[in-house]
Amino acid sequence: MTPPNTFYSAALLTAGICCLVVGAMVLQRRPFTPGSIPLIVILFAMFWWDSTYGIFWAGTPAPNPYFWLDMSYVGVVIVPTAFLVFAMQLSGLDNWLKRPFLIGLCMEPLLVLVLMWTDPWHNLFFAGKRLQNTAMILEAGPVFWANVVYSYVLLLITFILLVRRFMTTSGIYRRQLGVVIAGAGVTWLNSFIFIAGLSPLPNADNTPFSFTIAAFAFAFALLRYRMFDIVPVARDTLIEGMSDGVIVLDTNKRIVDMNPQAESILAASSDGAIGKPVDEVFSRWADIVNALLEVNHTRVEVSVGNDSSTHLDLQISPLYDKKKNLIGRLVVWRDISHLKQIQKDLEKLATQDPLTFVHNRRHFYTLAEVEIERSIRYQSPLSIILVDIDYFKNINDNYGHKAGDEALIHFTQICRKNLRKVDIFARFGGEEFVILLPEADLNRAQETAERIRKIVEDTTLEIDGYQFKMTASFGVSTFKGKQDTLGLLLQKSDKALYAAKDKGRNMVVCVE
Ligand code: GH3
Ligand code: MG
Ligand code: MG
Repeated sequence: MTPPNTFYSAALLTAGICCLVVGAMVLQRRPFTPGSIPLIVILFAMFWWDSTYGIFWAGTPAPNPYFWLDMSYVGVVIVPTAFLVFAMQLSGLDNWLKRPFLIGLCMEPLLVLVLMWTDPWHNLFFAGKRLQNTAMILEAGPVFWANVVYSYVLLLITFILLVRRFMTTSGIYRRQLGVVIAGAGVTWLNSFIFIAGLSPLPNADNTPFSFTIAAFAFAFALLRYRMFDIVPVARDTLIEGMSDGVIVLDTNKRIVDMNPQAESILAASSDGAIGKPVDEVFSRWADIVNALLEVNHTRVEVSVGNDSSTHLDLQISPLYDKKKNLIGRLVVWRDISHLKQIQKDLEKLATQDPLTFVHNRRHFYTLAEVEIERSIRYQSPLSIILVDIDYFKNINDNYGHKAGDEALIHFTQICRKNLRKVDIFARFGGEEFVILLPEADLNRAQETAERIRKIVEDTTLEIDGYQFKMTASFGVSTFKGKQDTLGLLLQKSDKALYAAKDKGRNMVVCVE
């Protein structure tokens, strides 16, 4: 089969023009990131290869019958080299790509081209076999075969590098590399088809089509996944292994990438979340979505999880390219649930009595001042009861300190059951307690004190195998309005309590 073949020619020219267009698209995507430049070289070389080969098949007049075929060889020798550089950049082997190495890589294609064009003088390339194979070189000399072997070795290294990278990477990069590897695989498939004699056009070369498909696959990976925008070499070890959750968003607030920690917090796999709008993925957590509306650097604390038990310290940073264009956002969070728990425990410790879990004395003052203010403002009654357990020392002495502790807990439980939610009940110290009753005048407070006194008196405690009873004395006083203070009120209740003790204990004494 000899040229012209219009169909084959048109197909090649179309493929060539597509490569040119795609090449121009990639060229426009600035800044150039790893993989971009070799990809542009591949696409332009494929444009050259496809179109010159197409021109050849169109039977275009030329200085000699092989002119366009020889021209297409420029593309043939460039592409495998550019494939290798592309794979090296994707694999983070940039430090190899220094000037001497790149110049070295260029030497082989140059040498092959020179030897091909000067073949009539030395016969090293075609070895005099050219005339037998006009459209496709099926047999040739040592330089031709050396170049074939060299090109396949480069392709093999490219393939190995890509697969190796694929095995050790994850998330979006894994899928991007999958596309790249599939593209590179097409060139191998083409070789097998050719060797197996299954080629649809026996005398024509399908190789340019297979390389065009590979180039498109690479470009698709770049444009579709924005593959090379963010390919820090240390990304895998750093981001994947860190205990902080990391999510990368594009400018449309779509999730571009996330690490395993982020997946576990979201209880979603990256497969399900990548590419989706972040407000959809985070729909359960309005706080996060609101924070993400901020373009500027933001730091917020949010609670997530079914019972909001997981607390995250969320930091959102805008990502800019070199020209200061916003290209996305980086969301990093730290699980601060443990710190929050410690904070809660400390707050409790600061306000709660550790034995009985009622308010401690200090917290009582804070809460009581608020109630006093309210009482003054609304001129509502307010009373305070001071309670002291009678002969408590004897309980310790007779049944042990632990039994004493249990008795204190029992006592607080009785009080709690007989108080309203609004009443403020606190341990004032030792076996002395204080009760502030808002909206209660002296009579009402006396009734409450009397009720508790009676229940305490009637209760038989069973602790550590001992059975015993206890009693308590109560001092009650009521707030007299503006001229009165919390301090004075407590003094009055204390006086009443002492009176109760004096009069024989287990009784309630009130003072005006
Ligand atoms: P009175 O009727 O005069 O109040 O006599 P009392 O024995 O209750 O008074 P006193 O002040 O002499 O003794 C109080 C005792 O309470 C002494 C102290 O060891 C004990 N106590 C204070 N806090 C605790 C506690 O947290 N646990 C236990 N088990 N005992 C406590
Ligand atoms: Mg006592
Ligand atoms: Mg006491």
